Amino acid sequence: MRKHFWLIIGLSWLLAACGSRFFAPPTPTPLPPTPTFTVTPQPSPTTTPSPTPTLQLPDIDAFSIRTHPDGNLYTGDHISLEIIVPDSAIIGGQYSLQVADESGEILGEADFTSFGIGGRQQATLFWVWDTAGLEAGAHEISLTLLPDGLTWTKTITLLPEEELARTDRFALWAYEESDCCLLYYITDTAAQRDIAALLTSADHQAADVMNQFDIEFDEPIIVTLMSRVIGHGGFAGSEIYISYLDRNYAGNDFDIVLHHEMVHILDAHLGGNLRPSILVEGVAVYLSGGHFKPEPLMPRAAALLDLVNDENGGSWYLPLAPLADDFYASQHEIGYLEAGALVEFMVNTWGWDAFNKFYRQIEPGHGGQAAAIDRALQTHFGITLDTLETQFIAALNTLSPTPELRDDVRLTVDFYDTVRRYQQMLDPSAYFLSAWLPDGPQMRQYGITADLARRPNSIENITLETLLATADEQLQASQYSRGAEIVQAVNAVLTALEMGVTQPFDAHPVAAAYYAAVHWLTEIEYQVQRIYIEENGIRAEVSALGNYLMVLELGWDGENIYLQQSQ
Ligand SMILES: [Zn+2]
Repeated sequence: MRKHFWLIIGLSWLLAACGSRFFAPPTPTPLPPTPTFTVTPQPSPTTTPSPTPTLQLPDIDAFSIRTHPDGNLYTGDHISLEIIVPDSAIIGGQYSLQVADESGEILGEADFTSFGIGGRQQATLFWVWDTAGLEAGAHEISLTLLPDGLTWTKTITLLPEEELARTDRFALWAYEESDCCLLYYITDTAAQRDIAALLTSADHQAADVMNQFDIEFDEPIIVTLMSRVIGHGGFAGSEIYISYLDRNYAGNDFDIVLHHEMVHILDAHLGGNLRPSILVEGVAVYLSGGHFKPEPLMPRAAALLDLVNDENGGSWYLPLAPLADDFYASQHEIGYLEAGALVEFMVNTWGWDAFNKFYRQIEPGHGGQAAAIDRALQTHFGITLDTLETQFIAALNTLSPTPELRDDVRLTVDFYDTVRRYQQMLDPSAYFLSAWLPDGPQMRQYGITADLARRPNSIENITLETLLATADEQLQASQYSRGAEIVQAVNAVLTALEMGVTQPFDAHPVAAAYYAAVHWLTEIEYQVQRIYIEENGIRAEVSALGNYLMVLELGWDGENIYLQQSQ
């Protein structure tokens, strides 16, 4: 195992392992532009093209502005900006946004385009403002909407760099390599602490995926370990990004997520003209033996037929054609579960080779992804998508999911709906449809770690995250009623926050106890990772210096916290 650290100031490095050259970071150049967002709806071949919609320029105050990295901003930060178009407005690619500093120097410009999986309309300026050398305090930047020239200003307060936690201030990108992979991580994080085990896991998962696809893959698989939660904890493009941290509130099994993302990398390498989303994700879930954890896919999908949708009285099962046409906007856990079970059903029916040939020969054409799947099914297997669905449901109906399995499916969906509710309200950079996930190679090139490390760190955030992490542990341990109670506690607090209640954590006794413990521990400068309420008090897993965990036993009389014992 070789170890490399990147020093980023004033040095240039030749990184032999991946053939890239790394330079000192004077001013980052913006990322390559993403395709311009088209406001005209895609005309179908049988309709006349729609006219260009009338532009509705929103009031400038209606734009929302987000700064990155998350949390407080410090001198020395490379600050990024998202200028988000209000929901009701359509301005499209004809407009761009220019940013200037207080001296009038133009820092950068970006078109309004579609951003993220959800296609939110915004101007995105990556690392547009390098604050190195600036005085701490309030600074005013100006934002100009072009070509109209409407300008407004935003005040950004920079704290002195010296106030940044030492580990964050001196954080570097480092990497280690294994047989399969290059694992990039940020120094002084849980990933660095556990890197040996993570490298072993990577080799194991890569060997398994290559075996499943029956291919040798010689290129190194590049994995960036993020020390904050983004989305549900895993992404794959040309590289893999996985959340690895002690307070991982998106609760997932690292091996499974890594396996899932490695399937995406090798699957993309094997190629195909269309590869519909439902089958891309279905293949990844099926070959990983589960979505977020190992799980029996067909019996769990059968449980969906029994679960009743409160809104329409139907079942939780999502019909395949609409699911295939709008996969990522559909309920996340149900969509992935059905997709994995469907692939399992097809492989069991026709064998892997026939399924694989069908999957890679699906062609785009008239209609959406469901229509493309339908055509390919007829060509390869002589059945329509409707017939496949009838057979799939018939197979599910032969199974009898246990009440425990139904509880597990129901609570998994509740848990992740709650995770996303928390993200949308209090950790919006993490919300998967508009996740803030800058380009890994550029972050390494410029030595920027904060975007994947800093996160909202208020007592409210930490308390809700520790609650979610415990809820996940309870569900993984099949402690459904305890897990459900904690999910309920999180939702009670989020509802109280939405209503503007002054003491939102009083909305649920479990939340109140967590809040008291987190408050007490944070005051004495521990990083709180986990909290457990036990018969005789509260057990807390915390870290202080570095990332070494320690356990504290706390007393709790319903009002006051006190230390009983530390280990
Ligand atoms: Zn996936």
